[in-house]
Amino acid sequence: MRYPQNKEEVVERYSRVFSKATRVTYAPIVAVEVKNAIVRDLGGREYIDFLSDAAVQNVGHNNPRVVNAIKEAAERLIHFTFIYGFPVEPLLLAEKLAEIAPIDNPKVSFGLSGSDANDGAIKFARAYTGRRTILSYLKSYYGSTYGAMSITGLDFKVRSKVGELSDVHYIPYPNCYRCPFGKEPKSCKMECVSYIKEKFEGEVYADGVAALFAEPIQGDAGMVVPPEGYFKKVKKILDEHGILLVVDEVQSGMGRTGKWFAIEHFGVKPDIITLAKPLGGGLPISAIVGCSEVMDSLPPLGHAFTLSGNPLTSRAALAVIEEIEEKDLLKRAEKLGKYTKKRLERMKEEHELIGDVRGLGLMLGVELVKNRETKERAYEEARKVVWRAYELGLVLAFLQGNVLRIQPPLTIEEELLDEGLNRLEQAITDVEEGRVPDSVLAKVQGW
Ligand code: PMP
Repeated sequence: MRYPQNKEEVVERYSRVFSKATRVTYAPIVAVEVKNAIVRDLGGREYIDFLSDAAVQNVGHNNPRVVNAIKEAAERLIHFTFIYGFPVEPLLLAEKLAEIAPIDNPKVSFGLSGSDANDGAIKFARAYTGRRTILSYLKSYYGSTYGAMSITGLDFKVRSKVGELSDVHYIPYPNCYRCPFGKEPKSCKMECVSYIKEKFEGEVYADGVAALFAEPIQGDAGMVVPPEGYFKKVKKILDEHGILLVVDEVQSGMGRTGKWFAIEHFGVKPDIITLAKPLGGGLPISAIVGCSEVMDSLPPLGHAFTLSGNPLTSRAALAVIEEIEEKDLLKRAEKLGKYTKKRLERMKEEHELIGDVRGLGLMLGVELVKNRETKERAYEEARKVVWRAYELGLVLAFLQGNVLRIQPPLTIEEELLDEGLNRLEQAITDVEEGRVPDSVLAKVQGW
């Protein structure tokens, strides 16, 4: 075993040993040590993490409560499969999730990733309803396993090579900045809702639909927030036809938006919620939380993995929940989210490059455009901003090629948040004023 000496060596060795399917071509840092919102790389440089490690570290990197919980659990019981015994930690976690989920009398099933949680939700929804069709959204992301990939509306490249689940239909997501029906807020008649009714009158037999899968805020599509009333109207249509609402809270859940679950902002109770990413504070654990009858619709071990309900990861998840409760992180996410959004909106006034600022809590997006009238996407500028942000010591990324992803830990210190926003604004200014050369574009491709 030879420990790498520098980033270039890591990148080169990755390309030799890792499948192309599970790596990017280049990454600007090699993270070796983390603390709350700070990431230190192999060269010893420190960065402010505005991504929370892809919305994983809601309670901050290496949160001490989570670290201690993991240590304590590891010394006592790393794993004993629920198939041959009943470890206590997953029980406590399931009870806690059942308590905080906006579902009456729910039951829980554990897994290891957001992808497998969504696969499970497809199975539960189909088994319970006895129907096959899944309705999903264009530009949605549900994961990388077969089922999750098959209902994802963001990228069709992989499935065109490997095949997919059948009986999946797509509808446009309500995007008020880029309305798929060409409407402006003034002329909007909620065509995104009537489209579903029309779909049921033509292309899709409503009474054969098992579930609608929805992200309450579309994350990877660029932090798209549906308009007020949308989910209530949709839920009414679904109820008329006995269709389940499955809400994917993998990215938006566990306090990110200022509530435990983003769907709570819209006053709707889903039938199933899927969770992962921040649930285990960085350890692999996912959960499906759903109405009891739905969750009891599969036969014994109909959705189970040897390592699901792992005591160690369950203990970490309990610590994440305790931390959110004791530090009042839902309020903090709301407060810091409002503050951050205000600062981003002020940046919008100063910088033509910013076309839209949106999001809830600390799940925010900044859409960059070449022209505010035409809304032409500023792809190259976004890549340059992200590159420059790294040079300035800020971990940043874009979605859809031109939407900056702003998702710092809910625990980020206020001074660091401010400093991160300063660096972000500096990066935007440097790009607008031509200080970032085209030569960086080739490097940013692929992440
Ligand atoms: N759903 C959503 C909304 C996500 O953002 C992601 C990850 N980006 C997933 C599911 C998949 O989760 P995982 O990568 O843990 O499989």
